[in-house]
Amino acid sequence: MKIIPIHVKTERALRSFNFYLVQHSNELILIDAGYDTEDCWNGLVEALQTHHLQLSDLTAIVLTHHHPDHVGLVNRIRKQLDVPLYVHPESVHRLTREPAFMEMRINFYKALYQQAGCGAFGEKQIDRLQRSKETNIGNRIEGELTLIDVTKPLFDFDLVETPGHAPDQIALQYDDILISGDLLIHHISSNALIEPDTHGNRLFTMQQHINSLQTVQQLDVQTVYPGHGSVITNHQALIQERLLGIQQKAEHLRELMLQKPMTANDLAITMYQKRYETQFPLVMSEIIGHLDYMESKNMTMKTEKDGVFEFEPVFDRVK
Ligand SMILES: [Zn+2]
Repeated sequence: MKIIPIHVKTERALRSFNFYLVQHSNELILIDAGYDTEDCWNGLVEALQTHHLQLSDLTAIVLTHHHPDHVGLVNRIRKQLDVPLYVHPESVHRLTREPAFMEMRINFYKALYQQAGCGAFGEKQIDRLQRSKETNIGNRIEGELTLIDVTKPLFDFDLVETPGHAPDQIALQYDDILISGDLLIHHISSNALIEPDTHGNRLFTMQQHINSLQTVQQLDVQTVYPGHGSVITNHQALIQERLLGIQQKAEHLRELMLQKPMTANDLAITMYQKRYETQFPLVMSEIIGHLDYMESKNMTMKTEKDGVFEFEPVFDRVK
C-alpha cells in the first residue's frame, strides 16, 4: 500500500486541508476530498501528475466524515468520472442535506441555545442557519452513496468508528498506519461539535470524543495521517496530552463558577471573549461539551431556571 498525502496550505488555524491518495492492489482510492477550492483541486491534480496518475485512474472515494472541508471536491470529481463514494450510514442525510433533517437540526440548536442562555446571540445564529439552509443547497453531495459496513474491512483497511468531532467519523487502519480524519490534529485540539443524532436527540459528543481518543490510543500504529496539519508519529503521547487538556479546561471552568452560578453562555463569554462572537457555534460546543464531561465526573451540578440551565461547582469532599 502506498499513501500519497495531499496537504493544501491554508491561512486558517487548521494550517492545511489534508486528503490522501492510496494505491493498493489495482485500486486508486481517494480518502477525503478537501475543500471545494481551486487550491484543493490543483493539489489533487499535481499529486496525480507527480505520480504519473490520472483522475480517471481513481476507483473509489472514501470519506472520514461529512464536513465541507473533507468532501469539497466530490461533486466536481464525480461530474467527470463515475466513481463510487463510500460513506458511513450516519453521513447520508448530512451529505444530501435532506430537508427534514436540516429543519430538525435547526430546531435542535434553537432549543440548545435557549437552554444555554444564549439569548439574542443564539437567535442570530439560528437565523444564520436558516439562511444557509437555502444558500448552501449547492453543497449537497450528488449521486449515489455506497454505505460502509464498519464491521468489515474496506480495501484491506480496518475501519474504526471515532465519533465525537462528527457523528459519522471513521478512521482507517492498515498495518501501522492510520488515516484519522479530524480526531487528532498535531497543533490544535480538535472540537467535539455538538450535534443531534438522526432523531434529534443530543449526542454526548465530548464523551464520544474521549472514548474515540482512548480507542485510537490503544491502536498499535506508527503513523497517523490527520485531516489537517502535519503527520503524527507520537499519537499515544499526543492523545494523553489532549485528554489532560480536557480535564484541565474542566477544572478551569469550575473555578469560573465559584463566584456565582453561571449559564453555558456566561462561561463562553468569560472564557473566550472575542472568539465568542467570531466562532459562536464552536465556542458553545466547547463549553457545553465540557459541562457534560463535568457533570459525568461530578464536578458540577445544574439547576433549571425559566428553561435555562445554571451551573454550580462541585468539589470532592475533604476526607
Ligand atoms: Zn471535521
